[in-house]
Amino acid sequence: MRYISTRGQAPSLGFCDAMMTGLARDGGLYVPESIPQISHAEIAALSGLPYEDVAFRVMWPFLGDTFTEEEFRGLITRAYAGFGHAARAPLVQLGPNHFLLELFHGPTLAFKDFAMQLIGQMMQAALAKSGQRITIVGATSGDTGSAAIEAFRGLSNVDVFILYPHGRVSDVQRRQMTTPTEPNVHAIAIDGDFDDAQARVKDMFNDLAFRDEVRLAGVNSINWARVLAQVVYYFSSAVSLGAPHREVSFTVPTGNFGDIFAGYIARAMGLPIRDLVIATNQNDILDRALKTGDYRTDGVKPSISPSMDIQVSSNFERVLFDAYGRDGAAVSVLMGELKSGGFKISQGALQMLRDEFASGRCSEDETRATIKAAFAGCGEVLCPHTAVGVWVAADHLGATPMITLATAHPAKFPDAVEAAMGIRPNLPERMADLFDRPERLTRLPNDLATLQAHIREGIVH
Ligand SMILES: *Cc1c(COP(=O)(O)O)cnc(C)c1O
Repeated sequence: MRYISTRGQAPSLGFCDAMMTGLARDGGLYVPESIPQISHAEIAALSGLPYEDVAFRVMWPFLGDTFTEEEFRGLITRAYAGFGHAARAPLVQLGPNHFLLELFHGPTLAFKDFAMQLIGQMMQAALAKSGQRITIVGATSGDTGSAAIEAFRGLSNVDVFILYPHGRVSDVQRRQMTTPTEPNVHAIAIDGDFDDAQARVKDMFNDLAFRDEVRLAGVNSINWARVLAQVVYYFSSAVSLGAPHREVSFTVPTGNFGDIFAGYIARAMGLPIRDLVIATNQNDILDRALKTGDYRTDGVKPSISPSMDIQVSSNFERVLFDAYGRDGAAVSVLMGELKSGGFKISQGALQMLRDEFASGRCSEDETRATIKAAFAGCGEVLCPHTAVGVWVAADHLGATPMITLATAHPAKFPDAVEAAMGIRPNLPERMADLFDRPERLTRLPNDLATLQAHIREGIVH
């Protein structure tokens, strides 16, 4: 299996190199050259299997010869061993034909643990084979950073630097990043918003000399291995509700477009998915783009679902690549136009996007009302991101079972949840002392050279 860049100018890579590299050297994102197909009989055979076995069968065709079958099974087992639920990704029912897929039982209480824990295991295993050392640099709106730090803390061949927007992540998210004591963990609060943090990380990857000097590796949602790990729970949940004999639909609270892109891949592999619904908060570039054909940035408006406060959805480039007939030159032009504000999606591409995705937007008031209503109606406590999904899903309920992805545990956003429903959700027992641990972080300006100097100095030598 080879991976190619969405901008058509970087060399194609195998799975392991694509994982280690993150962003392609031409600024593009890696995608598989072709999508492995899974037959209805193979999907039916996933029924009743433990999550880890589903994970192996779904991901294995994408891996090439990076690991032996036995090694890969071992990495999957270790990745999910620390989850607080035996089913890993359990389904609960929210209403008639509406289900929640609980993706928040990992160590940092958000769905990002599914991918990050596995990447941590895979990178460690690959580095142990080659004897190399890498520097992970990532930008986060809150959940990616804590998940990355949790996955890499204490690993001997990795330094992890996480940039988050100062003052714009929740206390729980910040503390999950700033309280680990291992010297290879570096939390950086930058003066700016998430898009600034993400742009500086992109700048570092585009500075090829720096990139080689510190052996940069990325784990942001642009990393193909993250998308791949997220494909698994589309299969496990759909099969629980009768796939492949019955179609299901998904609604996905969306920011960087990584999670829903995994659903798009699941469908491309052959999983019978009816609707794939993009749910955005008031930062609704994707919803506007699908409705108007104009993909245009509009400044981030901070919301109570901060992990979706994103203006430019980096993984959207991957689906644009398909929508434009896998023409890397065309994607390069669009991404150039995006730098100066946006672009018009061509008629053919827009048609393809509308065939693949539905979309909806949820305001701040609607988010709070949904949290309140879900608690009153069925006793479920939703995090604000999940509430955005539940609100948008309501427009798409019908004869096909709807699965809304519950992307974080409500206790990760206690202020917003308490304001909406009057009860403060508690952290699970295993992290009850989070607020007693000392914090360690560096606050830096939104400036590339300063950030690079900090990273050069901070690497554990
Ligand atoms: C990251 C995140 C999202 C958005 O996921 P994307 O893959 O960036 O679209 C939604 N909800 C929560 C809680 C998240 O952490």
